[in-house]
Amino acid sequence: MSDMLSGLESLGLGGMGKMDIFEDAAKIAQQEKEAARKSAIDAAQQALLDEKACLLDKTQKCRICDFEFKTKSVKTGKAKLVSQDIDLRPRYKEIDSVKYGVIACPVCGYAALQKNFEVLTSGQAALIKEKISSFFTGLPEPGETYTYDDAIQRHKLALVNAVVKRGKTSERAYLCLILAWLLRSKREEVEALAPDDVEKQSAALKAEEYDFLNKALEGFNQAYSKENFPLYVLDEQTSTYLIAALNLEVGNKEEAMRWAGKIIFNQNAPDRIKDKARNIKEIAEGKQSL
Ligand SMILES: [Zn+2]
Repeated sequence: MSDMLSGLESLGLGGMGKMDIFEDAAKIAQQEKEAARKSAIDAAQQALLDEKACLLDKTQKCRICDFEFKTKSVKTGKAKLVSQDIDLRPRYKEIDSVKYGVIACPVCGYAALQKNFEVLTSGQAALIKEKISSFFTGLPEPGETYTYDDAIQRHKLALVNAVVKRGKTSERAYLCLILAWLLRSKREEVEALAPDDVEKQSAALKAEEYDFLNKALEGFNQAYSKENFPLYVLDEQTSTYLIAALNLEVGNKEEAMRWAGKIIFNQNAPDRIKDKARNIKEIAEGKQSL
């Protein structure tokens, strides 16, 4: 390399003559990537502390095997809603309370959404004992908070229970919806931490989320025509809106517009949900992006 930067000796900068003008670009890019990763890890550690402060342990007795165990629950008033995704997935400030919606017995494998845990007929208990408890090898002891993997495993266990106990279609559809939300959250966490195989992990999580969105849609479509409202916790307007949103997310634009129309032209629908339905229609028409 020639002394391209020579001529600065008179300024006292004689040592700069052999400096490579672009050599450090790659180094800087690498340093920036490391710094971004470190700040994501710091943010994750802080988030963990925030999350811990929002939780309490509750004692729960299993409806099937009578075992008493501790289950994590979000303290009342701690989850502060910041925003919602188009499919109503809530985003909270200090804790993702979506992770804590299932109660699971670590001994016999009985698991259900909090609201449903105590609701069990003797016939359903017998089915769970026969088809789940007799094979179940135990739930791993969680840390002080649930990771997304913990939460996904618990919700899948609750979904298997819902199928085995012949639970309502709406309960199964709701669990599929929550699983889609949890997979989305896990993907966002992976993308923020940016491990070396981030693209591979992200694509796999996106594909799994898509499958659960499709299953949630299938279930809510069925429940909408054969069950009374509310569908699990969703009133008629919210269920209609959600079916529009799920259709949009899985790429059924025509259906998304049809279901959004049911709300937009319904005189009884509140303005708040009408605005959201109009938003779906605009996205489906290509006037806005998802
Ligand atoms: Zn049990």
